[in-house]
Amino acid sequence: MATETAGELDELLREAELAHGHLCAGQILGVRMAMLALRRLDIHEPRKKLDAYGNPNPDRKRPVVFVEIDRCATDAIAVVTGARVGKRALKLRDWGKMAATFVDLHATLGEGEYKGIRIVALESSKNAARERYPELPKNEQQMVAYRELPDEKLFSEEWVRVPLPPSEFPGYKGERTTCARCGEGVNFDRFVERGGERLCFACAEPEGLYYRPL
Ligand SMILES: [Zn+2]
Ligand SMILES: [Zn+2]
Repeated sequence: MATETAGELDELLREAELAHGHLCAGQILGVRMAMLALRRLDIHEPRKKLDAYGNPNPDRKRPVVFVEIDRCATDAIAVVTGARVGKRALKLRDWGKMAATFVDLHATLGEGEYKGIRIVALESSKNAARERYPELPKNEQQMVAYRELPDEKLFSEEWVRVPLPPSEFPGYKGERTTCARCGEGVNFDRFVERGGERLCFACAEPEGLYYRPL
C-alpha cells in the first residue's frame, strides 16, 4: 500500500476505533472497503463541509450506502463515508453478508437510478491473512494482514445500478400520515393503503411484528 494511503488508513482507523469502542479486524475491513469505494467513485473527503478553497464541498453527502451486515464493519463504513442511519444516507439490508453498495448521488443513470459499486469482503481473506502470518494467533493475523493486503486479496467489486426514489434521499421531507387503526404517526412511504384506509406496517401485517404486547 502506498505510504500516503497507509497514513490515511491509520487516521481513519483511529476515528473508527473511537466511534466503535475498540479496534478489531472487522473495523479494518470496513475502513478499507469504504476507502476503496470512495476511490472508485472518485469521491474525496465526503465528510468535509468546505473544499480546499473554502467553497462548499460538492462531495459532501454524495454517497448513499446500503450495508448488508450489522457488525463492526458497519460502524467503520459510517465513519469513512459520513453516511449515517439518522441522515438516511446509511441503509441497512441485513443479509448477513460482509458487503456494501456505495451509491453515487451525482451519477444519474436515468429513470431514478444511480451508479454504484458493490464491494464484498472475500471469504478467502481469512486464509490470505493466515498464509501471510502463520505464526500469529488468528485475530492478530487478521489485524495485521487486513491493513497490508492489496484490495484484490480482500474484496471483489462490481458496478451496479441502484433505483433510488426521491423519498429515499437523505433530507427528503414528505407527507406524514396517521394510521387509521392504531393512530400512530407514520412517515411517507411507510404505510399501505387498504380498503381506502392508510395503515402502518404493524397494523397491516401483524404477523411481521418484531414485538408482542405483554
Ligand atoms: Zn468490532
Ligand atoms: Zn397502525
